[in-house]
Amino acid sequence: MPFRDFLGNEPTVRHLRESLAAGRLPHSLILAGPRGAGKYTLAIMLAQAANCLAPPTPGPGTDGLPDFCGVCSNCTRIGQALDLDTRVDEAIAAREDLRDVDKRETRILIQTHPDVLVIPPDPPQLLIKIGQVRILTREIYRVPAEARRAFSIFTSAAFMKEAANALLKVLEEPPDHATIVLLAENIGELLPTIRSRAGIFRLGAIPTEQIEKLLGERRRDLKPAERPLIARLAEGAIGRALSFDLSAYLAARADALVLLRNAMGQSDASDLFKVTETYRAGAEGQEKTEGLLRAAASILEDLLLLKSETPQLVRNIDLQRELASMATAVTFDWIEAAARGLRQVESGMRRNLLRSLTLDSFAAQLSSS
Ligand SMILES: [Zn+2]
Repeated sequence: MPFRDFLGNEPTVRHLRESLAAGRLPHSLILAGPRGAGKYTLAIMLAQAANCLAPPTPGPGTDGLPDFCGVCSNCTRIGQALDLDTRVDEAIAAREDLRDVDKRETRILIQTHPDVLVIPPDPPQLLIKIGQVRILTREIYRVPAEARRAFSIFTSAAFMKEAANALLKVLEEPPDHATIVLLAENIGELLPTIRSRAGIFRLGAIPTEQIEKLLGERRRDLKPAERPLIARLAEGAIGRALSFDLSAYLAARADALVLLRNAMGQSDASDLFKVTETYRAGAEGQEKTEGLLRAAASILEDLLLLKSETPQLVRNIDLQRELASMATAVTFDWIEAAARGLRQVESGMRRNLLRSLTLDSFAAQLSSS
């Protein structure tokens, strides 16, 4: 997947590739931009371009800037980190299998290539922790074994305080052979002293019109009316839009509406029970419940947008009328309490409580308040 497959944000991508060509890629750089803009994909592509063993030769049909083949052993191994969610799940599962004493000491890291270290926020708090930065400090001063340039990619800007301070020490004396990439949705989360030592590159969200157009080209299975809906539900994330399973989402959303209406006191318990009894334990049930929770969260966000009088930002555009009537029936406080309740259901699910029970108690708690 060379750079021409990276959609959107051409000026920023060009700027980064020009820096790479000139040998001036900063030792630390921040890729800043909204979720879904492609920050992580771009970071991985940069690591591939810096280390490709058979880069395409510049010539007709190419833009003459550094690119990568995608098939050599460096490209392949670095590219294995692209599916970040799966890699993180594997790392978490591996840690779960450890003895308790080792579990506490083990930090989540992804390393599909010996010289490319991906550092995601460490669960359950989902923060970058000191133990993770210590591993970076140990690795980064080592001369790369197989890469020309080593990369360390932090996938979140949410650092614990001592972790941020430890990173700052590395940024003060970065080794020549390494680049540290920080991905940030909100650049203000990073210490000013970290920001001032890094080159900052900004990515914008991909406009929904551009995603709709791409869906028209690549998703022939969709009806024209479904494209604008998916483009909005994908929140500017192209990958998510292209693989969006609309029928699964609509089924989950129908259940989420029953749940929320019940929590609003607008339907009786038997309707809710019919829904929740279909949510069983086990892996399949967990996935189904996650889908329901995500759909419910997106409805709550739309209700907030309607109450804030920004209806043009609503994502569930096929439900405008129904959402408008729900919005008049709830308060800001209620929406906030419901969002909090959903997060509790989610964390209860992670601890393997009975799913239907927590969904029912979620609704009961809100409708009685
Ligand atoms: Zn290659």
